[in-house]
Amino acid sequence: MKTNVTCPSLPPFDEYIKEIETIWESKWLTNSGPLHQRFEEELLKYLETENLVLFTNGHLALENAIALFNFPKGSEVITTPFTFVSTTNAIVRNGLIPVFCDINPNDFTIDASKIEKLINDKTVAIVGVHVYGKVCDVETIAKIAEKHHLKVIYDAAHAFGVKFKNQNVSNFGDVTMFSFHATKVFNSIEGGCLTFKDSSFKKQLESVKNFGLCGQEECDAIGLNAKMNEFQAAMGLCNLRHVDEYIAKRKTLYSRYLTRLENVNGIVLPKDQEDLNYNYAYFPIVFDGFKKNRDQIKDNLKEKGIEARKYFFPLTSDFACYKSFEHGDTPVADYVSKHILTLPLYPDLSLKEVDYICDLILE
Ligand SMILES: *Cc1c(COP(=O)(O)O)cnc(C)c1O
Repeated sequence: MKTNVTCPSLPPFDEYIKEIETIWESKWLTNSGPLHQRFEEELLKYLETENLVLFTNGHLALENAIALFNFPKGSEVITTPFTFVSTTNAIVRNGLIPVFCDINPNDFTIDASKIEKLINDKTVAIVGVHVYGKVCDVETIAKIAEKHHLKVIYDAAHAFGVKFKNQNVSNFGDVTMFSFHATKVFNSIEGGCLTFKDSSFKKQLESVKNFGLCGQEECDAIGLNAKMNEFQAAMGLCNLRHVDEYIAKRKTLYSRYLTRLENVNGIVLPKDQEDLNYNYAYFPIVFDGFKKNRDQIKDNLKEKGIEARKYFFPLTSDFACYKSFEHGDTPVADYVSKHILTLPLYPDLSLKEVDYICDLILE
């Protein structure tokens, strides 16, 4: 038996078949078909937001979110290096310079207290990541952004279904990106969306994801193709009906990890955030003075067919493609990245498997 770090959630087979049967009648495969429209409506409700545009994946959604603001090339964006490389790629592919800020040791999101000293007259935006589904310090970040006239964009690829102070994370910052990739808490095979405050972005984003076309004979933006198709929307519709069950199952497994690994010398467990309705997206632990180091534990688990992952190692600022940018003063991120291990967590994992993984770590 092999246990991966994540495993896609699939709805009952018949449910999906029923949903895609309509496609054989309509012969409408992509370009804002009826399933796409229904999916959008259902997501607006679930994410408790006013404005939303679907994309074929989360990365293209994020890249186009940043592009909305037409920042001058070479402008600086303050961001975290402790993320999936997509976040940094989206900034740099827009011709902008990532300025790496440290993370805080409690929840590993960008350390808001270290942002202001990185701001200069080239700074245009803050791109935060709700990493592992934990929410950035959105209140402090909003204050800093207002004071310095910066835009705030959140990568919420991990944070589907998360609420802070009873507000869905879709409502923080100027724009928020969600990913519906197969490995995420909620999936539409591949997919993603943007939610945003300024309703005028809707038309602009709908056009840009369809080559910049508006109508049959007009093209007013140099767009690309980032449309979600009907099969993706059908999967999204089905999984959306079950996502609260998926999250509840994750919670049970997450709690089991917590009880099995608590009070162990040298293992630092994820901490609860106040006022958070969490989605239990990941179970990252930090080995700090444990009898074995992170890499040894990872290898031990692998020998038994269990794939834990070094999320996030290396930091994006350490990738070869980012060597020409400044690494930034990020001691906490450097440390966490070298000591953290993300354990398997997905709805179909059993409590028995969790116990087995904990036994292996503790033995
Ligand atoms: C998955 C992920 C993305 C990219 O989303 P895709 O839908 O796979 O393109 C971006 N940022 C983070 C933090 C992610 O985990």
